[in-house]
Amino acid sequence: MEKSRYEKIRVELFRKDWVECPTCKFLFNLKDTSQWSGLIHKRCGQRLEIVGHKSEMTFISCLVANIATDDSSRFKKGTKVYLYPPLWGDGYQSIKVIGKDRETNKFIEMIVSEKKLSNFKLAKVTKPDIISRFSNYWNNNPDSVEAMYKMADEMNKRTALRSSENSMNK
Ligand SMILES: [Zn+2]
Repeated sequence: MEKSRYEKIRVELFRKDWVECPTCKFLFNLKDTSQWSGLIHKRCGQRLEIVGHKSEMTFISCLVANIATDDSSRFKKGTKVYLYPPLWGDGYQSIKVIGKDRETNKFIEMIVSEKKLSNFKLAKVTKPDIISRFSNYWNNNPDSVEAMYKMADEMNKRTALRSSENSMNK
């Protein structure tokens, strides 16, 4: 059975920064953004998980937000959460996030409604555990960073629109 291109394939570094794509057999450099998106080998579209490469990142660019309501069972209002990119096709309404649990103070992953978040922005995160969780989802390529700024803007516009609608309904 053929593996889907959308399924991640684990691959070892060929040598520092070099990987041979198991799908198209092409050897490419991980710093070459025309080849590598941080997630996908652009030449063939294969998703790859690069073993041993994560630790070389000193930071990762990702979206963050704050918990805006106090009705979440696990997160206190104001908690900073680190957002996964859209993982399913709902227009980023339900968002998988990482944040500190209100009781244990340990990082947990939860799916949170966009409506419970505010203050979306781009952050450069240096926490190694966040980097390793996000290394297959976000990357620091200029194109991606540009896209993240746009996403943050878009999400803040939605929040603003919702709060103006709410105040009109009162
Ligand atoms: Zn390939």
